[in-house]
Amino acid sequence: MTLAELIARERARFEQDHPRSRELHEQAHVSLLAGVPMPWMAMWAGGFPPYLDRAHGATVVDVDGNEYADFCVGDTGAMAGHSPESTMRAIAQVEGITTMLPTEDSAWVGGELARRFGVPYWQFSLTATDANRWMIRMCRHVTRRPRIGVFSWCYHGSVDESFVRLDEHGLARAREGLVGPPVDPTETTRVAEFNDLRSVESVLEHEDVACLLMEPALTNIGIVLPEPGFMDAVRSLCTEHGTLLVIDETHTLSAGPGGCTAAWGLEPDAVTLGKSIGGGVPIGAYGVTAELAERISAQEDADYEDTGGVGGTLAGNALSLAAARATLGEVLTDEAFERMIRLRERFAQGVQAAITEHGMPWSVVSLGARCEYRYAPEPPRTGAESAAAGDRGLDEYLHLYLMNRGVLITPFHNMALMCPATTEEQVDLHTEVFGAAVAELGA
Ligand code: PMP
Repeated sequence: MTLAELIARERARFEQDHPRSRELHEQAHVSLLAGVPMPWMAMWAGGFPPYLDRAHGATVVDVDGNEYADFCVGDTGAMAGHSPESTMRAIAQVEGITTMLPTEDSAWVGGELARRFGVPYWQFSLTATDANRWMIRMCRHVTRRPRIGVFSWCYHGSVDESFVRLDEHGLARAREGLVGPPVDPTETTRVAEFNDLRSVESVLEHEDVACLLMEPALTNIGIVLPEPGFMDAVRSLCTEHGTLLVIDETHTLSAGPGGCTAAWGLEPDAVTLGKSIGGGVPIGAYGVTAELAERISAQEDADYEDTGGVGGTLAGNALSLAAARATLGEVLTDEAFERMIRLRERFAQGVQAAITEHGMPWSVVSLGARCEYRYAPEPPRTGAESAAAGDRGLDEYLHLYLMNRGVLITPFHNMALMCPATTEEQVDLHTEVFGAAVAELGA
């Protein structure tokens, strides 16, 4: 069968197995823009998303009663597993969800993030996007520089400055289809190629870049790992050119309890993160070194506390912080990471075995508990290489094939993430189903 025929067969099966989801999706067009509560949900393979009934641990059940081994885990938002018991218990005890008053939990969470990431001073937002936005503003204010730096094919949330990439001539361009930019992002942002120090230097040498915002490994265009020495050299270049290094650990937290920062001994000026640390309850966080904290508080002309500042009314609320305390303290523990990483090894071996057996020119890359395969024989070194190794048709076929047989991976590319509740049986189910999907491609 051709790929198109395989996709058509899988689509038909998906429709047949999801009548209630289909019906709810059709009804939703009456009250929801594009029929979905948020735009990304339109990206599930199959033409409409399965509707959630319930999710516990690493298992999702949809409204048609289909059960899935969930390796998408809310695209990292549920890296602690779904409805983790400790988090559920903690949030049920909250009395007063949002009061504009601090709770004891906030300092505990700040202290725990400081222990994990090595930067001492923290504050909270509701999303990783906001943590990044606010950090960028502080960096601009402190350095009195207008621009930021990012890597081509990065994603840091819906941060206006970051929607920019290098074109085939190495020139910065707004990302295709960019929705309503306030200004062309090439005016606000300089762009470097990942794993290319000459390119990083060409961004920083203008000495107008307030901060370099980066993931220590790209994770939103497949996984692109830094080559040996790259992160150290980036750190040195930032110091040399007076640019603050902001490391976004939202996804790379998968590397271990303190993300890549702790696992690889990185020395950022600031760390941002979000998604998973509240066990699914909205929270983002940003932390800074003592030196940067001092520089921030020395800015007497900065109106941090009032409407010129960086606040969100619900940020730092009691519910988010109770959830984060329970999640960090009892769910995403050091021991949980050890288990998750062992399971990821098993997962990656299963994927590699199928690729090898069927002679597919694909590669597997892992980062702690996270695993991804890409349609290129060697792991991509840059965002551009990884983008070139994408294939929408293959993605659709594999995602549908897996969904139709009880496995979810992230709908955007081929990412799978273990959570503390993931089981060996679930990993082995993926191995079996993925192997069968690849066998049909090779047949
Ligand atoms: N940073 C990174 C690295 C991300 O991948 C994302 C979302 N995928 C964000 C920030 C933004 O997270 P949110 O959409 O929850 O604000």
